[in-house]
Amino acid sequence: MKLLLATASELKNKHWLTQASASIDIIPSNDFSLYDQVFDMLVTLGATPTRFGKEELTLRRYFEMARNSQQQPPLEMTKWFNTNYHYLVPEWSSDLEFHTNPAKLLDELAASAKLNIHTRPVLIGPITMLLLGKSVDGVDPLSLLPKLLNSYVEVLRALHEAGAEWVQIDEPCLVTDLAPAYRDAYRSAYEKLAEVPLKLMLMTYFGDLGDHLDLACSLPVAGVHIDLARAPGQLEPALKAIKPEQLLSLGVVDGRNIWVADLDKSHALIHQAAQQLGAERVIVAPSCSLLHVPADSSEENGLPGNLKHWLSFAQQKLEEIKILAAGPQTFPEAFAERRKILTERAASADARIASVREAVTALKPEDFTRPSVYAQRAVKQRKALNLPLFPTTTIGSFPQTQEIRKARAKWRKDEITNAEYETYLEQEMAACIRKQEEIGLDVLVHGEFERNDMVEYFGEQLAGFAFTKNGWVQSYGSRCVKPPIIYGDVLRSEPMTVSWSTRAQALTSRPMKGMLTGPVTILQWSFVRDDLSCREVTQQIALALRDEIHDLEAAGIGVIQLDEPALREGLPLRRSDWAAYLDWAAAAFRLATSSVRDETQIHTHMCYSEFNDIFAALAALDADVISIESARSRMELLDAFRESGYPNEMGPGVYDIHSTRVPDTAEVTELLHAALKALRPEQLWINPDCGLKTRNWPETLIALKNMCEAAKQLRVEFAEVTQSSF
Ligand code: GLN
Ligand code: ZN
Repeated sequence: MKLLLATASELKNKHWLTQASASIDIIPSNDFSLYDQVFDMLVTLGATPTRFGKEELTLRRYFEMARNSQQQPPLEMTKWFNTNYHYLVPEWSSDLEFHTNPAKLLDELAASAKLNIHTRPVLIGPITMLLLGKSVDGVDPLSLLPKLLNSYVEVLRALHEAGAEWVQIDEPCLVTDLAPAYRDAYRSAYEKLAEVPLKLMLMTYFGDLGDHLDLACSLPVAGVHIDLARAPGQLEPALKAIKPEQLLSLGVVDGRNIWVADLDKSHALIHQAAQQLGAERVIVAPSCSLLHVPADSSEENGLPGNLKHWLSFAQQKLEEIKILAAGPQTFPEAFAERRKILTERAASADARIASVREAVTALKPEDFTRPSVYAQRAVKQRKALNLPLFPTTTIGSFPQTQEIRKARAKWRKDEITNAEYETYLEQEMAACIRKQEEIGLDVLVHGEFERNDMVEYFGEQLAGFAFTKNGWVQSYGSRCVKPPIIYGDVLRSEPMTVSWSTRAQALTSRPMKGMLTGPVTILQWSFVRDDLSCREVTQQIALALRDEIHDLEAAGIGVIQLDEPALREGLPLRRSDWAAYLDWAAAAFRLATSSVRDETQIHTHMCYSEFNDIFAALAALDADVISIESARSRMELLDAFRESGYPNEMGPGVYDIHSTRVPDTAEVTELLHAALKALRPEQLWINPDCGLKTRNWPETLIALKNMCEAAKQLRVEFAEVTQSSF
């Protein structure tokens, strides 16, 4: 613990000093977390859930709430807006008490002051906090607002007394659709906060304030920050809406992407604002926290071509902010250099593949639809695959044991040869296939033992992708991901999975599922060039996958699954933008999958359960079978099914793989009966919620046996269906 805290303060000091030496004037504190910012805010407000008891908060209890405890499941974790960063979800209940605890804020203020850096503390704002939490006892979160605000006022008072002059208060929910009650709540909340004589910088990011712009500027805050990387069009209206006494902070350097800034474009925006408001009222900033980009690109020497010079990670972005704040008169060379890089990138032949671009331009509407409708395909697939009613399958991965990880590490370090590694993986695969046969599963998988990550595995085999050495980005807690970089046109030059799938199929007479990651997920979990259209890049990925699917089919693989767990995460923050996104996302999926024969069964998988909102888009994928997460939330699932009448086949997960709990047969049967209230028997597949790679073998075996036993019982119960329509 001591070491952890010492390392944390070392890091904080380092970050403050780095920013100071990059001539950043306003440097934040309380932006470092041992877990995540939302959880820290909850702790600061003293509003951790009552189920964890009321003893004093120690570091041990902090991590118990975040990760694990003997007595209680940890707080739920979910994605932070449309990023791949996660936060712990506050739990609102009517008996919740708030015991303000601003220690962390005050400590960081003092620690930075020691370095002679007067930081601006960062808080997550009250309305965003309320909206990010979930009611656990039916309480209307808004009814907690008065208590919550008292706690915020206490925090702000403490900061004021400690000498803070400014506080940054993040309200990203202002760029999302807001119910009228929450718009009103913004007003009353900020009037209450204004009781404390502190200057508030109201931060908005990830999108356009749109219809909430006037609301934001009318609040009693001393400044407003807008994201001009995502929504440059909001500068014009913001210049009109900002009050004469307020500062306007311009988020011109993209905090969500890794490419050098277009300094001329940003400078034009800054110049326009300075002309209208006076330079002293304009602040130059990154669009959002730099948490979402890797730290430093200067040591990335292993990248192809000139890619290294196209990159700007957090460290480089600080430099860009400094350059922009001073302007082209002060730094003419820096402006010229960036201009040169961007021109070079646009013209770079390394990254271009003419045939790929032509293929995308030449796409015709029929490339996006399967030749026959689902009902016709289903009849042929049933015959070809010879599956029973209620077919059982799994989502793809089987336990990635310590042993497998060790073997991979050795192979990466060249301690074992390619051949040795392959042989080892083949043995694991063969054993896994035998186990699946013993369990009695109907559609088998090869186990994905050769994959470390579902996007990286494909990126490594496709042109247009590059991998950094140290481009880590926080995902949750201490977990980081290293997203691939899509720096050019995407091309598949050789089959990627065919060899594994065919070797697997050769080991069994049951259908073996070919396993791929879908185009939207590959895009979403990579850093994509900001001068290319996401839609076009996704189509390029889809075409690569289309070729792969074609090869799998030709090699005798009759069932092929494309996982799309990130499809929903990419959903725009505003409902009005959903249709356009879902449209191209579903089209990309269909582009990848629609060239197959009717007999070839296309599966997809998504691991989330709240899909009421995007049900139409799920149907638009036109996959023959979709598996989804639902073991925890079968009620929501039923509602959505009933209302929409999902047309194709579906496997609502019956085994929650995020937990060590193993469901018994009765529980699985009960879930299946619940699902059958909304699905016709011929539509229902039986599978776990997600891949099994994080589970261990003993629990996996029991859970899958129970699952198959439930399938057997259900088939007996529905014997007439088997005999008649099936
Ligand atoms: N096929 C993948 C697996 O089983 C799917 C993972 C995911 O949906 N996140 O691991
Ligand atoms: Zn999943």
